[in-house]
Amino acid sequence: MRELLRVSAPVDLGAIDPRSTPGLPEATAGEHRKGWAREQVALLGAGLGRRQEMLYATAKAAQERPGPADRPAGRVLLVLQAMDCGGKDGTIKRVAGAMNPLGLHIRSFGPPTPEELRHDFLWRVRRALPPPGYVGIFNRSHYEDVLVARVASLVPEAVWRARYDEINDFERELTDAGVTLVKVLLHISYAEQGARLLERLDDPRKHWKYNPSDIDARARWDDYQAAYAEALSRCATDAAPWFVVPADRKWYRDWAVAHLLKETFDTLALGYPAANFDLGRERERLRAGEAGAGGTGEMNGR
Ligand code: ATP
Ligand code: MG
Repeated sequence: MRELLRVSAPVDLGAIDPRSTPGLPEATAGEHRKGWAREQVALLGAGLGRRQEMLYATAKAAQERPGPADRPAGRVLLVLQAMDCGGKDGTIKRVAGAMNPLGLHIRSFGPPTPEELRHDFLWRVRRALPPPGYVGIFNRSHYEDVLVARVASLVPEAVWRARYDEINDFERELTDAGVTLVKVLLHISYAEQGARLLERLDDPRKHWKYNPSDIDARARWDDYQAAYAEALSRCATDAAPWFVVPADRKWYRDWAVAHLLKETFDTLALGYPAANFDLGRERERLRAGEAGAGGTGEMNGR
């Protein structure tokens, strides 16, 4: 999936069908594939959970006994970008939901606060990075500063134009520090966004998700697509690749993102750290303690 969904310059989003399902096995054609994909996400999720635990355990062990040869401890950062209603929240719920909350570091980026505006655009992003051993998820990201900032003219063109290089430098710095970046655009169609916005309007339980400004952004659809295409073209690097996931079909979207994460974990060759104590001696001490406490020398029930 990493090979299939990865994009490189020049990125043409119009050529990627948001309803397509690249990489889905042929055998799953027809009505069953939705159920099949949902089952797979649950299975993949269990594997993601195990890998995340290895990442966490390895970082914890490295912290407890740092050695001179230690590489920077690993962490994974999933960057999710999409138009409104693109499914970032749903993806996080279903894909990240399979992992242990203890090892997750999820951050959402809204309009900058007055304090954030007093700093460089990457300031708040640096503060939101996952610590070593964690899987970070960015619900929107520093890319907003070349997307909404560009389309809504929040800053002069010279400012947002300079940001592509700044982002590449920043992401290079992150990968050098042991962060494995997975940048994903959930690619929905104009029609699908319209349907999802209507759903939000029609369902009182979804009004809290609706924002009248979504319609203003929707009116600038083509400008946003152009801004996305340029951001992906300029910032898809070997160190920090961009993936485009067709996202009109939610079940495919979740399946594809789960696969991207699994394959990313696989590149990290994770494992559990070896014990940093003498196993035999610890067993002996445990046994001695049991005996000393007046027991039979055996653990109850074992
Ligand atoms: P959904 O996709 O479900 O609508 P959302 O990600 O839009 O969810 P919201 O809290 O509704 O979540 O909106 C976040 C808003 O913050 C977006 O409109 C986004 O454009 C805006 N935003 C994020 N980063 C920046 C930024 N750097 N500058 C200006 N606006 C930003
Ligand atoms: Mg929104």
